[in-house]
Amino acid sequence: MKKVAVKLGIDSEDLASCVSCGLCLPHCPTYRVTQEESASPRGRIALMRQAESTGLIDQTFVDFMDACIQCRGCETACPAGVPFGSMMETTREALTQQTSYQSWWRRWGYRVLGCPNILTIGSRALAVLQRLKLLPSKLALPKIPLMQAPLVPSGEDVWLFTGCVMDVWMRDTHRATQRVIEAAGAGVRFPDKKAACCGALHVHAGLGEEARRLARRTMSAFPGDAPILVDSAGCGAQMKEYGHLLNTSDAHKFSQRVLDVHEWLVNHLDELPAAHANPPRIAIQDPCHLRHVQQAHDPVRVVLARYADPVILDDEGLCCGAGGAYSALYPDTAAAVRERKIESINRAQVHEVASANPGCLLHLQAGGVRVRHPLEIVDDLMRKDI
Ligand code: SF4
Ligand code: SF4
Repeated sequence: MKKVAVKLGIDSEDLASCVSCGLCLPHCPTYRVTQEESASPRGRIALMRQAESTGLIDQTFVDFMDACIQCRGCETACPAGVPFGSMMETTREALTQQTSYQSWWRRWGYRVLGCPNILTIGSRALAVLQRLKLLPSKLALPKIPLMQAPLVPSGEDVWLFTGCVMDVWMRDTHRATQRVIEAAGAGVRFPDKKAACCGALHVHAGLGEEARRLARRTMSAFPGDAPILVDSAGCGAQMKEYGHLLNTSDAHKFSQRVLDVHEWLVNHLDELPAAHANPPRIAIQDPCHLRHVQQAHDPVRVVLARYADPVILDDEGLCCGAGGAYSALYPDTAAAVRERKIESINRAQVHEVASANPGCLLHLQAGGVRVRHPLEIVDDLMRKDI
């Protein structure tokens, strides 16, 4: 790409808020792997400033922006409160609108996420190819279900968001979540297909219009006032940001109803079956969008601690490399980032790992880690005889 004119439109105060201290660098997975300044938060902000002052960008700029995992570990580490996540989202939306940044095949892939019928058919085709051993093993896909029974509602106390890929590949996780919620005394309701995708990956890709369309559609699938529980950290983070994304009073009210399911469960722990005498040691991998965006990682520890001995990893919540579509777009970097997470898991010497985000879970499984959703573990343990 030659130099092209672009107006990013980042708030000038946000751009100026970075004091270039570099305290975020050790918390940035892409910097840790590449050791390149331009692959760090500080370096990316310097490139954004340059683009805003000259009005020009080139392919190098696009590559460094695209290779950000959007984990937002830099935001948590930053003493100056730089809102890196929203700066990156603004940058990507400007690139998508003003350049050929997002190719047709990427746009098509994101579009499919919002079409549950196409997603189901495509998933079944993959499941058949997988059973015929016609899928390359380097894709490291989990065992994709051929057919799935529908989820059966049990009441109207809470909604459970089901999502796109998670629902077609990991519906058993929703079933386990439902059983734990029911054991806590609440009936569970499921949305219709209008809530087929929260739009998180679209925001990350800079597809703002599509993300806003999906957000409005998702909101329409949850009438009433009941809490909306989410068992996918990435989706929950996005739905909590609908107020910011749509900037309407309805969207703000909707976001206030959204809770990560562990946030709801911590207030209903006494209703759950009694704990066990010999709890297994389980390491907790904090999904970035639970720790850095929702700041709701502690409830996972509390819920799991009723039945297990939770072990906190020693890497201060460093990203695992999954990053939504990132592990598919940048498999080598994603695997190199994952290696650091696996080293931390190995040091913890645990029986199993818990991860509350489907993307992280599948990415770690592909790296050979024994990992399940925390509520699948809780569902198993709470039903064991004491
Ligand atoms: S969001 Fe994550 S990958 Fe991107 S610059 Fe910040 S720490 Fe690095
Ligand atoms: S983003 Fe924050 S932590 Fe990183 S260099 Fe800028 S001010 Fe320092």
